[in-house]
Amino acid sequence: MGLQDNVLKLKGIGAKRAQLLEKLAINTVSDLLKFYPKQSSYTFLENIVPLKTAENYQTALFLTNVVGIQNRQSRQRLKYTNIIVKDSSGYAEILLFASQTYQAKILKPGDNILIIAKAEWQHGKLTLKNAIINKHFNVEEFFGVLTKYKLVKGLTQKQLQQAIKSALQVYKKNYSESLPIKICKDFGLISLEQAIENIHFPQNRNLLQSAQYRLIFEELFFLQYSLFEQKQQQENKSSVVLNKNEYAKNLLKKLPFELTVAQKNVWQDIKNDFQAKKCMQRLIQGDVGSGKTIIAILTILTAVENGYQAVIIAPTEILARQHYNYFQTLLAEFALKIEFLSSSVLASKRTRILEELRNNKINILVGTHSILNEQVQFAKLALGIIDEQHRFGVLQRQCLLAKNQISTPHLLVMSATPIPRTLALALYGNLEVSRIESMPEGRKPVKTLLYTLEMRDKIYQGACRQLALGRQVYVVCPLIEGEDEEEEISSVLKTHKFLKEKYFSKYNCAILHGKLASKEKDKVMLGFITGEIQILISTTVIEVGINVPNASLMIIENAEFFGLAQLHQLRGRVGRGSEQSYCVLLSESSKQDSWERLELMVKYTDGFKLAEEDLRLRGAGEMLGEQQHGLSDFLMADIIRDSELILRISSYLQNNKDNLELFEALQKSKLNSFVTQEFFQRLN
Ligand code: ADP
Ligand code: MG
Repeated sequence: MGLQDNVLKLKGIGAKRAQLLEKLAINTVSDLLKFYPKQSSYTFLENIVPLKTAENYQTALFLTNVVGIQNRQSRQRLKYTNIIVKDSSGYAEILLFASQTYQAKILKPGDNILIIAKAEWQHGKLTLKNAIINKHFNVEEFFGVLTKYKLVKGLTQKQLQQAIKSALQVYKKNYSESLPIKICKDFGLISLEQAIENIHFPQNRNLLQSAQYRLIFEELFFLQYSLFEQKQQQENKSSVVLNKNEYAKNLLKKLPFELTVAQKNVWQDIKNDFQAKKCMQRLIQGDVGSGKTIIAILTILTAVENGYQAVIIAPTEILARQHYNYFQTLLAEFALKIEFLSSSVLASKRTRILEELRNNKINILVGTHSILNEQVQFAKLALGIIDEQHRFGVLQRQCLLAKNQISTPHLLVMSATPIPRTLALALYGNLEVSRIESMPEGRKPVKTLLYTLEMRDKIYQGACRQLALGRQVYVVCPLIEGEDEEEEISSVLKTHKFLKEKYFSKYNCAILHGKLASKEKDKVMLGFITGEIQILISTTVIEVGINVPNASLMIIENAEFFGLAQLHQLRGRVGRGSEQSYCVLLSESSKQDSWERLELMVKYTDGFKLAEEDLRLRGAGEMLGEQQHGLSDFLMADIIRDSELILRISSYLQNNKDNLELFEALQKSKLNSFVTQEFFQRLN
């Protein structure tokens, strides 16, 4: 039996239990092993706690003497049992409900009992809840660590633990260590086998810590290792020199604006990279609306002028389309061949495009993830750009580098997500970072307003006033089409119907969401860009990149559904022109933390500041993880909490890079560990 086998194959697990496990996303033996308890779900039973010193809500071991037992019935006719116990420090009352009351049947006053229970103090009285009572016991046996798992209805802790025990047995038969001995030694790691066992059934506090450390290490190490591998490959390659840049100069003269100082600096960084013989690997960080696209265009134009091809990929079809259209208009005079590729491009056209890329007939390719497909190969690719890099997998950008047989393309990635510099280094390997720290001049910060639904009518009347001035409006809803039970939540379809009838009968209103056909999406976006459509009612498909400067109002329905980073991106769709723009957050949520989050949106317009707050509210791992997919797939590690370890691993690899034996061993072990195998699949 193997780790990828279904849990049904385990002893004691039938169809019914398997179904319950499936609800916890546990299908295979390996899933069971990786169902790690949360940090907070361990209880340490290391000594007997005198009743008087029990802390509120502490689960602990108590050694007591039974004073009295009473069976009772509550006003709701619920049966319960009350056991009064004492030890030398004081008294307590054990409360047993329904299915627990059987424990009292064998007890009589005077019995010595050992209890594992949760202490609750009220008005100076101690109650013991969720008690497990032992009448015959050997105290020593009870010392240890208790583990509690997340459950679903119908499944008990005991059953789940039993299932995990069976899985552990299978694991022990299949076990192989995933890391070279040298690494285990150098980092003081326990074996993977010990770690998996102790993460579920820790023998003591120390072993639990060692187990956690080992599993965190495992994830971080293999991530760093793959980044390192790629970096090594990268460093051995040289890229073409791109020293002509007349095209870019000409374009700059023609633009309706001058580059900001920050943009000029970044552009200079890139030109320097192009003239050195090495391969550019650069990350541009700049807040939403800071003007990253024009930098991408200048870069692309330079590659093309020097006789090469360039490619840019964006995370959504809508954004990729927008880039494509913009490039075509802006670059018209250069008479270049620009093509668009996404999964919605017809097979025949796709074939033609692939062919022309290989024959160097296409200068610029714009598109989505589907460009990463191996079949897409270029004749003379000198530059790859990834827009909104945080929406791609950590390792995906590397796919671009393999698109050209002859030399390695220069790489430029762009993102609005502020990441601490050290971390960027570890996560992005050898990417150098350029920042666009200021906004184009003349922008008025978007005014953000937060209201409950009572104001909805006034808000939409206000929207009508904006429309009357010739401006355009976005309305964002969390759902496309609400199910019955989701009546409270705004959906695109319902909202469209409602708004069209009640407020916007004079205007063109359109809907946009991920389920529309590509043609339809294009038509709607084009209509909105040209101003033919005045109101766009949409899901978050417009979250990143979309640029319609005439839109001056963004209304977000059920704003509590969105995270800070997402709200900030959405708000970034307005305020792109010279007009005063507004972002209205509508929410009826009574949850305190969502109000707090929404109020932060009102208070700050700066993405860096908001990211800081997001960090404080949610913890960094989650904040970054959600944005950079791949990083949220760690089961144990947290890239911020563990950033020191990341840096240590990174320099360890660097220092040992000439140790061939070690790297050979690592090559092999990469596929050895079930913990990381699946993790890798998700990284890409
Ligand atoms: P982002 O950094 O979010 O990708 P964009 O590149 O989409 O931002 O730029 C936002 C808007 O700002 C666009 O309409 C763009 O034409 C405009 N823009 C860019 N640079 C400047 C500048 N230096 N001065 C004025 N407007 C600019
Ligand atoms: Mg952009």
